[in-house]
Amino acid sequence: VKPEQRFESTITISGEDFKHIAKVLRLGKGDVIEVCDGQGTDYLVTLNTPGEQTISGSIARHYPSQGETPEMSVTLFQGLPKGAKMEVIIQKAVELGVYQIIPFSSCRAVSQIKDKQDKKLERWQRIAYEAAKQSKRGIIPRILWPLTFKEVLSEVARYDLMILAYEDENRQTLKGALEAVRKISKTDKPLSIGVIVGPEGGFDPQEAAACQAAGVISVTLGKRILRTETAGMVVLSQLNFWKEE
Ligand code: SAM
Repeated sequence: VKPEQRFESTITISGEDFKHIAKVLRLGKGDVIEVCDGQGTDYLVTLNTPGEQTISGSIARHYPSQGETPEMSVTLFQGLPKGAKMEVIIQKAVELGVYQIIPFSSCRAVSQIKDKQDKKLERWQRIAYEAAKQSKRGIIPRILWPLTFKEVLSEVARYDLMILAYEDENRQTLKGALEAVRKISKTDKPLSIGVIVGPEGGFDPQEAAACQAAGVISVTLGKRILRTETAGMVVLSQLNFWKEE
C-alpha cells in the first residue's frame, strides 16, 4: 500500500470537538482546520456545513505532526508523589514531549494507588489529553498503571538508555549520559530513553544499587536538590535540545 492510500479523503468529527468547532468557534463550510489523529499525523481539513451532532470535512493534505520528535521517545518513570503533584507532572511532561509516563511505588513513596477502581488514572489520562491538545502534540501520551520499583527494573532492557536521576550521584552528569546516547544513536531507529525520578523521599541506597546492577545510568542534575516535580522536567527539557553533532 502506498502511504497516501492509507488515508481516507474525508473526516467526521463528533462529541466535544464537534461542539468546540461548530458551536464555540462557529466554523463551517469552507473553513480550514488542522486535525491530529493522535498517532503522529496531522491533516489539513476543509470543513463542510455542520450537522446536528457531527461535522465532516475533506482532507486537503496530511503530514507528520510538527509537535513530535521522531528521533527519540522518552518514557518518564515517576515515583508516586503526594497529593495532586502528579497532575502537574503529567501536564508539564506532556508539554515537554514525553512519550509516556509510568508512575511507580518505591520504598520512600508516601502515596500509593490502592485499587484498580481508582479514578485517578482516568483523570491523569484526561490531563494528558488536554495538555497534548494545548501543546499541539501529534500523539496523546499514555499514562500507565503504576508499577512497583521491581517491575520498573524489569523494564530496563526495553530501552536504549535508562537514566536514574539520583540525588546522591555526584560524578556522572546528564550531559555525560547523553554522550552515551549519542554513541547509540548511530543507528537510524528512534531512540527509546527511560528516565527514573524518585518521589519526595528520594531513593533508598539499595534501590540505587539495584538500578546500577540492572544497567541504569545514574546521573546528577546539579548541586541543588530539586523537587520531584522539577527533576523530570529538567531531564526532558535537556533532551529536547539534544542534537547529534
Ligand atoms: N524533598 C523534595 C521534594 O519534596 O520534592 C526533593 C525530592 S528529590 C529527593 C526527588 C527526586 O528528584 C530524586 O529522587 C531524584 O530522582 C530527583 N532529583 C532531585 N534533585 C536531584 C539532583 N540534584 N540530581 C539528581 N536527581 C535529583
